[in-house]
Order: sequence, then structure tokens, then C-alpha cells
Amino acid sequence: MCVQCNKRVYEMEKITVDTIIYHKACFRCVVCGRMLSLGNYSAMDGQMYCKTDFMKTIKMKGGLFFYLLSCRFW
Ligand SMILES: [Zn+2]
Ligand SMILES: [Zn+2]
Repeated sequence: MCVQCNKRVYEMEKITVDTIIYHKACFRCVVCGRMLSLGNYSAMDGQMYCKTDFMKTIKMKGGLFFYLLSCRFW
């Protein structure tokens, strides 16, 4: 069963992330809706993001953390 649409997933359209199963078509960024691939996604709180939106979300949630991190590196 696909966790996004709760429909049955056939082998050829299956994407498995850890033990979670998606349709290829349902494996999308929750922010922009872009389709993702296994080599090109980031997961947070059980939600899938493209790299761009993942960075945006991280910055919104953990701005201070990133600020400290960048201070260290600059
Ligand atoms: Zn689905
Ligand atoms: Zn996105």
C-alpha cells in the first residue's frame, strides 16, 4: 500500500524508503509537488522534500542552529 494515496502498489511503480512504500508518482515534495527520485530527496518528520525546500524548511525551523554553524565555518 502506498502511504500517500492508500492504493495498492505494483512492483514496477514502487519506491521503497526505509520500509515505507510509495508510488513513483506519489513520491513528491510536500512543498512544491515536484516528483522525487531515490537519489534526490530529503526526509524530515516523515515528510518528503526536494533538496531546495528541505534547506528552506531547515532554515525556518533551525535558523539559530544554522547561524551558529555558519559562524563556526566562516
Ligand atoms: Zn500512491
Ligand atoms: Zn520542493
